[in-house]
Parts: sequence; C-alpha cells; structure tokens
Amino acid sequence: MTMNADPLAALTGQEHAVKRLNTIALDPPQSIIIEGGDADSRVALSLYWAMRLNCASGSVPCGQCPACKQIVDLAFNDLLFFDGREGLIKVASVREQRGTWGQPPNGDGYRVSIFAEAQMFMTEAANALLKSLEEPRPGNVFILTAPQRERLLETLVSRSWVVTLAWPDVRENSPEITEWTTALAGFWRTGLGWFERTSAKGSVDKHLAMQVVLGMQRELREALSGSCGTPLSAGLVQMYDLKGLRRIDLALEQAQDALNTQVPVNPAMVLDWVATRMI
Ligand SMILES: [Zn+2]
Repeated sequence: MTMNADPLAALTGQEHAVKRLNTIALDPPQSIIIEGGDADSRVALSLYWAMRLNCASGSVPCGQCPACKQIVDLAFNDLLFFDGREGLIKVASVREQRGTWGQPPNGDGYRVSIFAEAQMFMTEAANALLKSLEEPRPGNVFILTAPQRERLLETLVSRSWVVTLAWPDVRENSPEITEWTTALAGFWRTGLGWFERTSAKGSVDKHLAMQVVLGMQRELREALSGSCGTPLSAGLVQMYDLKGLRRIDLALEQAQDALNTQVPVNPAMVLDWVATRMI
C-alpha cells in the first residue's frame, strides 16, 4: 500500500468533519461511517479518528507521539486496517479478528478497526462484522468508509454514526447547488424567495438537502478563510460578522446531523429550519 508522506494532508478543506469527530471523541460511538469526499480523504479521516482516540496528548492528535506516528504508518498495536482499495475485503480476514474484538485493547486508548472502502465488502464478510457489532466489547470501535452510505449493508448503516465529507478540490458549487445556496442567503437578507422552492412537490430529497448543506458549508469556508472566491461568500462577509458566520456554521452542522440520523426526517423541513434560524 502506498501512503502519502502526510496522509492527513487529504483533510484540507474538511474542517467541519474533523470538528464533528472532535466533539464526540469523549464518548465515541461504536461504529462510524465516513462517506463523501474522495477515498484518500475518507481514509485520512479514519486515521485521524484512530489518532484522536489514542494520542498521548489525550486531545487533538499531536502527530509526534508513538501512537500518532505508528497509526500513520499503519503499525499501531490497536489499529486493524482492512483495505478495500486493494480489492474485496474477504470474510476470512474479518473472521480471523473476531477473537481480537472480544478482547480489550492493548493500550490505554481504543482499538480502532478501519474498513477502508467498505463497499468492497463481501456480504458474508459484512455479516461477520455485524456479529461483532452486536456483541460490543468496551474499547473497540469501528469505522467504515464508502463513497455513499447506500453502498453499504443497511444493517451496518443503521448501527453507525454517519459523517459526510465535503467534495475536495472543488471550491465552487455546481450551478444547481449555487442556485439553492444563493436563494438561502437571499432569504436571510430579504425574508423572501425561499419557501416556494422547498414546498414545490418532490423538489427536495435527502441527497439534495445534504448537497445544499455541504454547499453552504463550502461557501462559509470561503467566507471564513477571507479568500471569498465566490460571489456568495463575498456576500456573506458583508451580511454577517464573525459571530453571525459561526451561527450559520452551527445551524449547518445541526442540519447535517439531522439528515444523518436514521430517524426519517423531512429533508425540506431541515432546509427550512436552517433558513429560519438566521432570520
Ligand atoms: Zn499524538
């Protein structure tokens, strides 16, 4: 397997996802799914999570302690890495570890098992993993990465906490998403022109709602970085001070959480909620 000199470099532009993981690090969920972004950024966030749970600093990974360094090299005692980028993850390799998952971790942190590109998972192997998730042992946490959660077994998804990465390397949103984000900011400014969009029958599904939230996060990042490379991000800076921008940030994070729960939500209502939060 080839690793970049700094595998975490792929996290550039993914500050939202990193922040979300940091907020749950004190009480880590047993299983996390990382979707969106590209394969490198998904793996990078998985490794970040392993470091976050095992770094000697007990906080944001230092990158210098033995645990951090060994995790980056995939040589850490309490790290199991199944690499679907190299082909199917086979059932035998999963079954082999079931005894390990029945044990507490070797060190003081967590045993982190990463299934990179878990869409390359034989159903049988996924079922073997499910068995381990059904018999949780303290100190063992799991991560599955995939382009979209729909490509994983539903029973795995329903047991997991989902984090969605922004598409990297693209600083501008597609014209369709820009129309939505511009309408949203327009509504914040004028109180007009929003609800006719979301109330049009069948206009908003969960996927679109997530794209709008991620699109607005991207605009916000442009605004907060000060580079303001898009008309909308420049407009946001004129409309809001730093505190206001942070409020948008928070609302978008909560919307993302709502869209990521397994409880059925109405995606149009989540967007309406974001719209009315800033009025
Ligand atoms: Zn460290």
